[in-house]
Amino acid sequence: MFVAMASGLNVLQRQIALQSRTWLKSRFLHSAMGLGPLYQHPASQLEGAFPTQHLPLTVLSDEERIMKETVAKFANEQIGPFVSKMDNEGNFEPSVIQGLFDNGLMGIEVEPEYGGCGSTFFVANLVVEELARVDPSISILADIQNTLITALFRHYGTKEQKEKYLPKLTTEYTGSFCLSEVESGSDAFAMKMTATKDGNNYILNGSKMWISHAPQAGVFLVMANANPQAGYKGITCFIVDANSPGLSVGKKEDKLGLRASHTCAVHFDGVVVPEDHILGEFGQAYKYAIEMLNEGRIGIGAQMVGLAQGCLDATVPYLLQRKQFGQRIFNFQAVQHAVSYLATEIECARLLVYNAARLKEADMPFIKQAAMAKLYSSEVATRVTSKCVELMGGVGFTKDYPIEKYYRDCKIGTIYEGTSHIQLNTISKLIANEYAD
Ligand SMILES: Cc1cc2nc3c(=O)[nH]c(=O)nc-3n(C[C@H](O)[C@H](O)[C@H](O)COP(=O)(O)OP(=O)(O)OC[C@H]3O[C@@H](n4cnc5c(N)ncnc54)[C@H](O)[C@@H]3O)c2cc1C
Repeated sequence: MFVAMASGLNVLQRQIALQSRTWLKSRFLHSAMGLGPLYQHPASQLEGAFPTQHLPLTVLSDEERIMKETVAKFANEQIGPFVSKMDNEGNFEPSVIQGLFDNGLMGIEVEPEYGGCGSTFFVANLVVEELARVDPSISILADIQNTLITALFRHYGTKEQKEKYLPKLTTEYTGSFCLSEVESGSDAFAMKMTATKDGNNYILNGSKMWISHAPQAGVFLVMANANPQAGYKGITCFIVDANSPGLSVGKKEDKLGLRASHTCAVHFDGVVVPEDHILGEFGQAYKYAIEMLNEGRIGIGAQMVGLAQGCLDATVPYLLQRKQFGQRIFNFQAVQHAVSYLATEIECARLLVYNAARLKEADMPFIKQAAMAKLYSSEVATRVTSKCVELMGGVGFTKDYPIEKYYRDCKIGTIYEGTSHIQLNTISKLIANEYAD
């Protein structure tokens, strides 16, 4: 019944998306058409290209609004009831994962011919935000699938590779992105993993670390050095099926947060990969990884914005209801001001994320804005969740309310897909370039 209903919803969504795309085109609205945030560009550059209207960043097109509402409903009704259970047991609920596939949330930008929604990068980020409001663990699963795995196949895959993997990634299984190793985290291209040519095959040897969702993955995108003499220019991306002999998944990490999302080492012991399983060009994967992670950072920003919003949403009703000294604690000005600051910070973070996503969609420079969006929104999520625990008093420190979980889950935002230091390095490098120019 649920599956039938969900697949009906899926078809409806796609129809609406296609219709609203046509509508968007004729109305010259930003984002989904790749027109970007109009206010950022000098008027001379825009002359004749756009109508004079300037739309606020948070105004959503029909397609964006419908997807946001659909995902919010799905998250509240289908994920919400399982959040604590998944966190306590350290596992995903199978019906939740099936729901993500049935509702088209695992292939948002993927073309309909491969089973995807054919929607936009901005919508993918909205989906990540809405999922994170309810469960950041589920949100990272959708984020990696949309902004890294299917994105890599769409951008660099051959026709055969897309035909073979995209229909499965949109409907059946998730993929894992394998870059980090024990000794190469921030310095990702110092990787030790090798790929040695053997006839028409490559033999993969080495281990990857911190690989999200490795136990569930149907396919791994693995960065290995196939020509170590060339340094990072030997790094090549291999498509490795999960059932390949010699591939094994290590034990799951016992983490502070995102406990439902499995993170494991993955070992490659003489794994044979056919030459035609190279994704994109030989020796170019360092570029692909940088490009994908630049985009992916916007997704982590969206995750942090959703997480912070979800935490505040769960806190304010308590403040309005809880009484001390004969009145609601929300009546105290100190509490009101704290809430105002938190809401303002979330709004600032959201604007950074939306702007970075719209810039990316507009094919304009976005790397600095993406790094800023991730840096700032992860710091905001840390501040918001910490303050919400305090505002709730003792119950904020217990598992009776979801606040402590948001507080634990947020910390990863300053670490994965480039730590805060790495974002600061990127931002400062780009600022130095701007002044040098
Ligand atoms: C839950 C989780 C999920 C993950 N999922 C994946 C995944 O799916 N795939 C994948 O490939 N990886 C994944 N990672 C790995 C993640 O991307 C790395 O943990 C991250 O890049 C940091 O690397 P590291 O842990 O080795 O820290 P290190 O690089 O050792 O950094 C330690 C500290 O040193 C600082 N530092 C390092 N270099 C510099 C510098 N140049 N300037 C200033 N400070 C610096 C860092 O900012 C940090 O504070 C995941 C990690 C976690 C925790």
